[in-house]
Amino acid sequence: MSESIAFALVSPDRSLFDEQVQEVTIPAETGEMQALPLHTPTIAKLGVGELSCTLTSGVRKRVVVSGGFVEVLPEKVTVLVRTAELPEEIDTKRAEEALKRAEKMLLHPDDDTDVQRAMLAFARASVRLKVARHL
Ligand code: ATP
Repeated sequence: MSESIAFALVSPDRSLFDEQVQEVTIPAETGEMQALPLHTPTIAKLGVGELSCTLTSGVRKRVVVSGGFVEVLPEKVTVLVRTAELPEEIDTKRAEEALKRAEKMLLHPDDDTDVQRAMLAFARASVRLKVARHL
């Protein structure tokens, strides 16, 4: 039985992972999905959230992602993301400010408020703070 699966995670400006892993847990738009070796082929849209993988050493890695696509094949998972940050890269002050702006828009919407957009900004900032704080 296969014990690992190839995992590639690429953002518009860099490659964050390109290695064998035990599993990848992906925040798909429709909910969380886990890709294990020999997974049935699938393509899904990514939502906003935390993607995590377990390296062959057993170490777990977390990344905040927003938007993109995932392709799962029996021996390879490929994730193309709009944005990706490792925990140590997250600027918590910036995320706190983004959270406050989004909260303000959602609590006091006016005719120009794009509620859907504000909800996505809120979700991005919230998950950035959660992962940066190792919660
Ligand atoms: P902001 O309003 O602070 O720009 P945002 O959620 O609108 O936040 P995005 O459009 O998701 O930002 O991201 C734009 C770029 O900035 C991406 O490269 C993303 O990785 C990076 N980025 C956004 N917020 C942070 C953060 N708090 N710390 C580090 N990088 C961030």
